[in-house]
Amino acid sequence: MTVSGSCFCGEVRFEVTPPFLDISQCHCSYCRKLSGSAASAFLLLPRRQLRWLSGQKQIREFERESGRSSRFCMTCGSPVPGVEADLAAVPAGALDGDPGVPTGVHIFVASKASWDVIGGYAPQYDESWI
Ligand SMILES: [Zn+2]
Ligand SMILES: [Zn+2]
Repeated sequence: MTVSGSCFCGEVRFEVTPPFLDISQCHCSYCRKLSGSAASAFLLLPRRQLRWLSGQKQIREFERESGRSSRFCMTCGSPVPGVEADLAAVPAGALDGDPGVPTGVHIFVASKASWDVIGGYAPQYDESWI
């Protein structure tokens, strides 16, 4: 069963096809800036499982000198799926339906915000799990 997703204004739309791995939450300083929150929550999946439905021309990319980049809707500023090589990283908050998988891992917990209280039972890694 595919799950659809969209940005805040609705111009960028996409759908993802299972199987899905658990959702990852990254608490690093970049993800905090990009999400404006404690962490970014995203679904990693093979690129072929992501299909754009509309609004791809609305997408802008900003790249830092470090090489870290963000992709967002130029109308509303919401994060949108990023694609690199064969992988897609889909912002979990952009999904309109239920992917049916829980948060399975917290990464870069060593650099989380002091006010960030992580709940649940998913394993926590100081840096990446890789
Ligand atoms: Zn938008
Ligand atoms: Zn991060």
